[in-house]
Amino acid sequence: MLKIYILDTCSNCNGKAYLPMGEAEDCQGKMYIRHIPCPYCEGSGNEPKWIELEDFAKLLQQAVCSHDHTSFQGNMHFSAGDVWDDIQEVCDDCGANLDQPALGDYIKDEN
Ligand SMILES: [Zn+2]
Ligand SMILES: [Zn+2]
Repeated sequence: MLKIYILDTCSNCNGKAYLPMGEAEDCQGKMYIRHIPCPYCEGSGNEPKWIELEDFAKLLQQAVCSHDHTSFQGNMHFSAGDVWDDIQEVCDDCGANLDQPALGDYIKDEN
C-alpha cells in the first residue's frame, strides 16, 4: 500500500491553532475569552498524517481546482437564545471546504 506523508488540518483544533480557554478579566476589568495554542499541534493548526495515494490525488485535485461550482452545506442553530450556523461553502467539483476559518478570523477583539 502506497502512502504519502502530509501536513493536514489539525483534527483537535480544526486548523484554528488556538483554542478558547475560558474567560479572564483584562486590565480594564472587562471579561474576554482567553485563547491558548492548541496542545496537539502546538499552535500550528497542522497535523502530520499518512494518507493513501488515492486521498492524495483528491488533495491535488483540490489544489488545482478553480472551485467554479460551489454549494452551501450546514444549518442554522438556535439554542438558549443564541444563534449560530455551521454553514460551509463546499466545492461541487473537488469537495474542498472553502470556508475553513483562518487564524485571523478566529482571534479577534471581543469589543
Ligand atoms: Zn491543533
Ligand atoms: Zn474545487
